Amino acid sequence: MSNDMIESAPLHVLPSLPYTDNALSPVISANTIGFHYGKHHQGYVDNLNKLIAGTEFAALPLEKIITESAGKANQTAIFNNAAQTWNHTFYWRSLRPKGGGKAPAGLKQKIEASFGTLDQCKKELATAAITQFGSGWAWLVLDSDKLKVVRTGNADVPLAAGLKPLLTIDVWEHAYYLDYQNRRADYVNAVLDKLINWDFAAENLG
Ligand code: MN
Repeated sequence: MSNDMIESAPLHVLPSLPYTDNALSPVISANTIGFHYGKHHQGYVDNLNKLIAGTEFAALPLEKIITESAGKANQTAIFNNAAQTWNHTFYWRSLRPKGGGKAPAGLKQKIEASFGTLDQCKKELATAAITQFGSGWAWLVLDSDKLKVVRTGNADVPLAAGLKPLLTIDVWEHAYYLDYQNRRADYVNAVLDKLINWDFAAENLG
């Protein structure tokens, strides 16, 4: 087999941010975006490309790399970097300038059927985000026909457990420390009130 075949596998690329780096300010500063998107997210993409080069994962789409490497002890580094690449792309899209507010009708109905009210859904997301011990993520997911809030540690992603993610909040310290230091709850509540992108969650609901 020639080297060309291995080298021709497409590299994963850092997707563009769906807004400018100061568009989420003052809830999330351009400084935080600069490090979080420009250094952390880019770093996961670069590490993933290095780790999969020349392996069975090189030609697989990102979601397939995640599900194929999940729970395999000898593929932890590949799983972590693939999942963090996916999680961050999903996180940026879970936020938008002038977000928060009301959920679109179809999603609102689903939220009310699962949580009673939108406020109760936000409360459960906030609790999951604030009480996640250490690094991780809070998620709104679809579990067969019902919406649920779940949290995951480190790089873990509900996709690996067969749940369909609708939106996420990153609660790794790098997501808020420059702006909020240890005040994770202030970051989470500001994100839920001012940035959360219910339209994106509605799109994912399908
Ligand atoms: Mn992050």
